[in-house]
Amino acid sequence: MSRARHVTVVGAGIVGVSCALYLQRDGHQVTVVDPAGPGEGASQSNAGFISSGSCVPTSTPGILRRVPKMLLDPLAPLAIRWTYLPRLVPWLVRFVRAGAPGRVEAISIALARLLELAPESYAALAAGSAASRYLRAGGVLYTYETDASFADARWSLDLRRRRGIDFEIVQGADLRRLEPALAPAIRHGVFYPKTMFCTDPRGLVRALAQDFVDRGGELAREQVIDIEVDAGGPRALRTPHGRRDLDVLVIAAGAWSRPLAARAGGRVPLDTERGYVVTLPRPGLPPRIPLLSGDYNFAITPMEGGLRLAGTVELAGLHAPPNYARARRLVQAAGRVLARLDPDGATYAMGHRPSTPDSLPVLDRSPRSPSTFFAFGHGHLGLTLGPVTGRIIADLVGDRTPPIDVTPFRVDRF
Ligand SMILES: Cc1cc2nc3c(=O)[nH]c(=O)nc-3n(C[C@H](O)[C@H](O)[C@H](O)COP(=O)(O)OP(=O)(O)OC[C@H]3O[C@@H](n4cnc5c(N)ncnc54)[C@H](O)[C@@H]3O)c2cc1C
Repeated sequence: MSRARHVTVVGAGIVGVSCALYLQRDGHQVTVVDPAGPGEGASQSNAGFISSGSCVPTSTPGILRRVPKMLLDPLAPLAIRWTYLPRLVPWLVRFVRAGAPGRVEAISIALARLLELAPESYAALAAGSAASRYLRAGGVLYTYETDASFADARWSLDLRRRRGIDFEIVQGADLRRLEPALAPAIRHGVFYPKTMFCTDPRGLVRALAQDFVDRGGELAREQVIDIEVDAGGPRALRTPHGRRDLDVLVIAAGAWSRPLAARAGGRVPLDTERGYVVTLPRPGLPPRIPLLSGDYNFAITPMEGGLRLAGTVELAGLHAPPNYARARRLVQAAGRVLARLDPDGATYAMGHRPSTPDSLPVLDRSPRSPSTFFAFGHGHLGLTLGPVTGRIIADLVGDRTPPIDVTPFRVDRF
């Protein structure tokens, strides 16, 4: 190992906490700074899939045809708020470009390489900690009500096949044998046997953070309001409590990383794809395994606090109030996927996915400062990719070669 340093990680989501743990294991003294505490950002408001087969980016061929519809329907699975559109245009242009067939192929290859390391990175991180109790193996089932929606999925299935992802097409009586809770209307399914899931994402991040603190890590409940920078790069964080001198800095503040990264020498078109989560405490007949509705594009996950419905993409920035009509739409859609659903006592939440236009995270060293690292932009896959990100950032900080080529995740690629 290279010499031990003091590393400050900004952000205590799954990405920041994973970075902190891997860095700590390398012998560094680590401080995590976050005003909200561990797992209070997007890392709690998600579907809980640890989805090593999700190598299909968000922007795909034909996306341009779908944008006008998004603008007109605020409840569509993908929606854009008109008032946010002017600020979104540069991101949207890059997003549409990333959907060109050649780009999609290259992006999915990079994603697949990163995702392949996700399960073993999770196992290494959670071993011996209370976090492992939240992890479940057993696969997920994607469901399709109509022949047309199943036919639409063929393109992404071919892409996954080219990446070597295991899946099995399930139809007819076999579907109900696999998942008895399905509604009769569901006609087709695709089972991904290697996908894992988490029964309580916030519990998972908190347990990992507790492990970090038990091993001597420092958790500071402070908000970074500025980064003091000189010719050599970032020198100190400014928080409402004063200054924090920096040796090594890792920016892992999820959807809020953009201005911090810009101060530290990385200009990234990071935006947020907001998503909604519904928790049903007494759901009726919950599924045994997590489901993803291919018709309505959302997940149904049996979790400790009840049945969770999670999904949709809303491009409306960090500050607009939530539109919980979108979450209620998920309850209606779940009624079409499941045979018996009781919506009583539903609670709603929104999460901010940290999204780059090309669906790839930024995992890199700052071009302006050799002691500053970027670990954000995981979009739809941050829960899955948190631990592997921690492993790669620890390699970069320690001047080791990461286990995969990290050029697709460069900060200056945009
Ligand atoms: C509806 C929905 C469903 C999803 N489903 C899945 C799924 O099934 N599987 C999957 O892999 N991913 C999923 N995701 C994506 C995943 O949740 C995110 O990619 C991931 O949580 C991002 O983690 P993070 O640590 O980068 O960010 P966050 O968890 O948002 O953490 C960022 C932290 O930075 C802190 N912070 C911000 N600004 C500052 C500052 N100035 N100073 C200090 N701290 C700061 C925040 O308080 C926050 O705690 C889903 C997301 C949504 C919204």
